Amino acid sequence: MSVVDVSSVNAFIPGEVELEESQLRLIEQRDRLLGPAYRLMYQKPLHFVRGDGVWLYDPDGRAYLDTYNNVVSLGHCHPDVVEAITRQVATLCTNTRYLHETILELAESLLSTVESSDLTHMMLTGSGSEANDLAYRIAKVRTGGTGVIITETAYHGITDAVSKFSPTLGEGVPLGEHVRCVRAPAAYRYGPNTAERFQSDVEAAIADLKRHGIQPAMLIVDTLFTSDGILPEEPGFLKGAAGAIRKAGGLFVADEVQPGFGRTGETMWGFQRHGVDPDIVTLGKPMGNGQPIAGLLTRHDVVEEFGRSSRYFNTFAGNAVSCAAAAAVLKVIKRDRIMGNSRDVGAYLLGKIEGLRERHECLGNVRGAGLFVGADIVTDRETQASDRARTTRVVNAMRENGVLISACGEDHNILKIRPPLIFSKENVDLFVNVLDNALGTSNV
Ligand code: PMP
Repeated sequence: MSVVDVSSVNAFIPGEVELEESQLRLIEQRDRLLGPAYRLMYQKPLHFVRGDGVWLYDPDGRAYLDTYNNVVSLGHCHPDVVEAITRQVATLCTNTRYLHETILELAESLLSTVESSDLTHMMLTGSGSEANDLAYRIAKVRTGGTGVIITETAYHGITDAVSKFSPTLGEGVPLGEHVRCVRAPAAYRYGPNTAERFQSDVEAAIADLKRHGIQPAMLIVDTLFTSDGILPEEPGFLKGAAGAIRKAGGLFVADEVQPGFGRTGETMWGFQRHGVDPDIVTLGKPMGNGQPIAGLLTRHDVVEEFGRSSRYFNTFAGNAVSCAAAAAVLKVIKRDRIMGNSRDVGAYLLGKIEGLRERHECLGNVRGAGLFVGADIVTDRETQASDRARTTRVVNAMRENGVLISACGEDHNILKIRPPLIFSKENVDLFVNVLDNALGTSNV
């Protein structure tokens, strides 16, 4: 064991921790080989060698309950996805400049989930960031504008264009002059009338853009407001804001990288909870259950001019192996009634966490949709004052006890609970036990 200062590599708690020699070696190697931009999670970083369903295993065989994974959202190493990838990679892996059935089967299957809208085209990218980058390019061509409206603690990705509208990348990554932030639609913080307030905030942002000679291109929101603190209530509140941006000549873009693919339980997509029809829907993370694939859905009229003026080719996006993975994901979601599980186990999880409020004063507002729950850690329930330090202690205490979660929100005081969609009630019981313990021991 060595005591080391992990400030430069740890995203959550800087300071000194005791680490085993083998871990220390890996951290030093990362530093040397990968350079200074990467961050690890948890005060004591984790090293995994294997995953299976909701479990991750370290080199000593210790199992950790993964309650923080919306990438392999059907569980680690899902057999159907493994089989689809293996079969395809052993047969053919080409790009979108050749005819191939798998991408078309995927498009048909994906577009059938938005049948009630006019979204008729799918375009593929390699990451959620690229999907939002492409959405922005399309929006600029379609609208003739450049202005972007986002929420105050939004995250939409890392390309040069997208980082300019991703405030959570930090002060070192400046927002663009064409970007305006509005308050997150947090009913529990700002009181009722979320829809009206959000709409009028968006209208004010549109007016401000125009006053500066900037035509709005798009309002883009994560439809579950993940990095703003997970804000599901009340469904429907996006309608007015979407109407306002359209009236101003811009597009409404639903970023479904987090809430999409059944996580919210009642609907396949977060925007469907709000009864709005976006002009563009961007997709990512869970789409290939770990295989890199992302993309967007849009209407013909939105992409028509873009398609005429620019050819689109993206080397890895749309390759047959990734398409096979994504097609398998959609098949499993349907066949195994994954959304029903997300809804039922999610309601059970939410109820259990709410139940802990009786025993723990530090647990403030708790909210969620399907298998996505946000829980505030506060110093005072009345004022809802954030307790970032305690939140960090809770997250790390849970990790010590074999359960993985993280924190989000402007003040990093919101427990972000986002298990794979195959989570069971038994998994919830274990999770809640460990959370109960961590909350109980989180006094300094
Ligand atoms: N949008 C949202 C809402 C996200 O949460 C993320 C990733 N955390 C992205 C876009 C970017 O996706 P990627 O990391 O695949 O580029």
